[in-house]
Parts: sequence; C-alpha cells; structure tokens
Amino acid sequence: MTSRRERSPGQPNAESEVLVLAERLIGGDRRALSKAITLVESASPEDSECAARLLRIIGPRTGQSIRLGVSGAPGVGKSTFIDALGVHLLGLKHRLAVLAVDPSSSVSGGSVLGDKTRMPRLAVAADAFIRPSPSGGFKGGVAPRTRESLLVCEAAGYDVVMVETVGTGQSEHAVSEMVDSFVLLVTAGSGDELQGFKRGVMELVDVLVVNKSDGDGVERAENCARAYASGLSILRPPDSWGWFPPVLNASALESRGMDQVWQKVLLHRSWLASNGALSRKRQEQLRSALRSLLDAELTLRFLASPRVKAAYSEMERAVEQGELSPSDAVRRLLAIYEGER
Ligand code: GDP
Repeated sequence: MTSRRERSPGQPNAESEVLVLAERLIGGDRRALSKAITLVESASPEDSECAARLLRIIGPRTGQSIRLGVSGAPGVGKSTFIDALGVHLLGLKHRLAVLAVDPSSSVSGGSVLGDKTRMPRLAVAADAFIRPSPSGGFKGGVAPRTRESLLVCEAAGYDVVMVETVGTGQSEHAVSEMVDSFVLLVTAGSGDELQGFKRGVMELVDVLVVNKSDGDGVERAENCARAYASGLSILRPPDSWGWFPPVLNASALESRGMDQVWQKVLLHRSWLASNGALSRKRQEQLRSALRSLLDAELTLRFLASPRVKAAYSEMERAVEQGELSPSDAVRRLLAIYEGER
C-alpha cells in the first residue's frame, strides 16, 4: 500500500488489494483490521465497491461471535463495565472487539465512545480490539456501518463483539438490530429510578445490570434492582421470544458481578440458539439492515440529482416561510426527480 492510500479514508483500490487485505485481516493482522473497518466506514463511492467486495470475501467467516449490545446513560459506568467484563472474558480465553454507535457524533463531529483511554486494561490487551466510534456523516448513517464493522471483527477471529451506545432511545434500537443480547446498565439513586421505562427501552433489554453496587451504595442498588424486577414483571410480560430479562447487581469499578452477567448472557444466547430464535432474530436483523440501507441509498441518490439539488434550498426556504407545507414540498421534489429520470 502506498502512503498516499494510507492517508485516504479507504485504502485498497485494486481487486487484488482487497483480497490481500482480507487475507491479512483473517490472519489476525490488527492493522489490516483497522484498515478494513475504515474501508467499510468510508463514504466514498469508490471505497463502497471495495467494501462490498471485502464483505463478500469474508462473508463465510462471519456470524459466529457472541454479539452483545451495552447501553446506558452517560456516567452509568459503561466504559468501566466493558473494561471489567472484557478482562473477565480475556481470562476465559475469549477474543473481544468493542465497537461504538455514537448518536452524538454526527452532530458534534466528536467521538465520546470507544475511546481507548476509557478502557485502559482492554486498550493494552493483545486479544482485545477497541474501535473508537466513527465520526458522523456516513452514507446510510452510522449504524449500518457499525454492523459491517462487526462482521469484519468476526472475520478477524473475535468471538465476542460488544457494541456500545449511549442511552438515548434511538441508538438502542439501532444497536439491538445488530446484536444477539442487549445489556442495559442503570444506577440507583439518580432520582430517576426507572429511567429505562420512560424510553421504551425495556422491550429491548435482555439483561439488566444495576451498576455501582458497592460501598455505601449497595443497599440502594439492591432496592433499585428489586424495583426494576417488579417493574419489568408488570411492563414486560414474557414476550414472543419467551425470555424474561434478569436483573443483576454489579460493581464495574470493583470488577464484581462480571461472571454472573456473563453467565446470563450465555444463558440468553443458548436459549436463543436452542429454540431457533437466534436465526429468526438474525434474519429479522438482515431484513431491517436491507431496509435501512435501501432508505439511505435512495435518499442519497435523490438528493444527489442535479435538479433536486437546485430546487432543494428554495423548497426549504418556502417551507420555513410557511409558503409551502413540508408534504407539498416533498411532492414537488418528487415530481422534479421523476421528471429528471
Ligand atoms: P460511562 O459514561 O457510562 O462510560 O461511565 P464511566 O465508565 O466513564 O464511569 C463514570 C464514573 O462512574 C467514573 O467516575 C467511574 O469511575 C464511576 N464508576 C463506574 N462504574 C462504577 C462502579 O461500579 N461503582 C462506582 N462506585 N463507580 C463507578
């Protein structure tokens, strides 16, 4: 690879270079893994061809990992928890990749998740790979790219892939559509005891962890866990999958409760696998990935059409001024687009 290519968003151009990249990636080369993720995250159309080719090559080597979503409000202890659970998993000889879906990055351009300094022990572990969250502005949004990054990590031999997101509501849905098990972290005493219930996140939760169950917070955390357990029993009768989410206490800071959390994740996973729910779930996820990529691609092509581009800001202005309703503006833009084809 040339240094020019190393600086560009996606690296390989030639077909053979994609093949070499795939081979290196499958062989466990971390630099190749980083490059491959950069390639699938790239917004350039040229890279998207290469990324599609790469994903076709690695396809047969994907799908075998335990895919775990980890979410919770800022400050709840996600990075401390991922570091602690990750170290526990490394001790069990797993290889762990951590990815992030950061709903704020497309707005701020910054990255608040997946930062290596937030997971100090994993950052220096040979069998762990941490990918900071992509900055925004990706074709098709960040989530579909993260799903593809997850596949790349699987091909590189990571048998546990964690996808971290900040609890905002929307991002949990995006993450739940790419993982097998979804862990929600909460804490006691935030004055908002059942914070998850408000956002409809409980439908997505497979394992609920009340973190910071340590020091003089133990009793509060246990009360909080009881409140969640009874709340869940009212609000979430066993769903169509027939899994009732367990509520656990843990202290990420003291690395306590990690084994119990992992046991529940494994239980959930084997339960999914035993009754065919895992393949049904993954089929559903593929359907929704197809749909979200299609939506994104159509919007992109629509907005790239020269006449739509020319008319768009005028439509925006007219909508802002109340001269045109948003739905009338959409109808006009569609008519312009149809006329152009
Ligand atoms: P994030 O924003 O959800 O990633 O949260 P962090 O992992 O950065 O943790 C936020 C703060 O909570 C830090 O000061 C941590 O040290 C602290 N923290 C995280 N886990 C625990 C825990 O289990 N117990 C206690 N007492 N503090 C914790």
